[in-house]
Amino acid sequence: MTARVLDGTAVAKATLDRVRGEVAEFVAAHGRAPVLATVLVGDDSTSCTHMTADRCAAVGMTSRHVELAAPVTTGEVAARVRELSADPDVDGILVRHPMPAGIDARTVFDAIDPAKDVDGVTSVSFARMALGEPGFVAAPPGGIMALLDAYEVRLPYRYAVIVGRSPTLGRPLGMLLLARDVTVTYCHSHTIDLAAHIAEADLLITATGRPGLIPGKWIRQGAIVVDAGAGDVEFDAAAERASLITPVPGGVGPMTIATLLAQTIRAARER
Ligand code: NAP
Repeated sequence: MTARVLDGTAVAKATLDRVRGEVAEFVAAHGRAPVLATVLVGDDSTSCTHMTADRCAAVGMTSRHVELAAPVTTGEVAARVRELSADPDVDGILVRHPMPAGIDARTVFDAIDPAKDVDGVTSVSFARMALGEPGFVAAPPGGIMALLDAYEVRLPYRYAVIVGRSPTLGRPLGMLLLARDVTVTYCHSHTIDLAAHIAEADLLITATGRPGLIPGKWIRQGAIVVDAGAGDVEFDAAAERASLITPVPGGVGPMTIATLLAQTIRAARER
């Protein structure tokens, strides 16, 4: 392997250490811990909810878990989210997604008060991010930018290819890179000749959730590779060609949680 690893676990730990200090200051000033409410619709097939609660506790924040068992309607979920938005004891709201089929995620996301949108999923947050105005960024792209910055990756003039265009990952990431003078191409399931685009990328970011979609031999020599998906890039072969590469797990995942909690203490302070 020739690539250097972009160690998300280590960078996230440093961020969480800083957040822990800020939380302690907040508690000293206000006599209470910041509160992050996590809304889960249907079953949790991942351990993400527990992980978020554990990380909250580790930095001294309180997590509140709200579970809405199926069957439930979009209107019922949105109403519960609106209650949390109006609850003065809640600082940040995280709605787990993807949500079950039949729930309109956009309606639910937009029930979050933008001042509590610490996962950066509302239309208001997206617009502010895209326009370069102050607000909360979607946590996975925010975490990716923080990881690149921690390794002092020089961004201007780069040519980035993003594979994936979801509203909470690929799409906002492109806007954040654009704001840093990167030239950006989006690829998705209707892209013709994905390999040809990837061959040109000196920064490749994948967010498809398709393990092994991108063979290592497609990677341009010396490229920076960020895999935000589920092992979208064939790691061993890619690491022979890349200059920097994220492991899965231990790359983008820990950075996403760190960004979420950093935005939660910020939301608590700004309220
Ligand atoms: P999503 O909404 O399912 O989006 C997947 C994207 O990949 C879509 O834009 C889709 O294209 C594209 N895609 C699918 N198959 C493709 C193919 N064969 N070639 C090219 N593009 C293809 O998922 P998401 O919410 O963005 O999440 C993507 C992945 O990131 C998942 O694995 C998820 O678990 C992971 N994730 C990780 C973190 C983290 O913190 N590490 C956070 C969130 C999500 P179309 O738009 O054309 O359908």
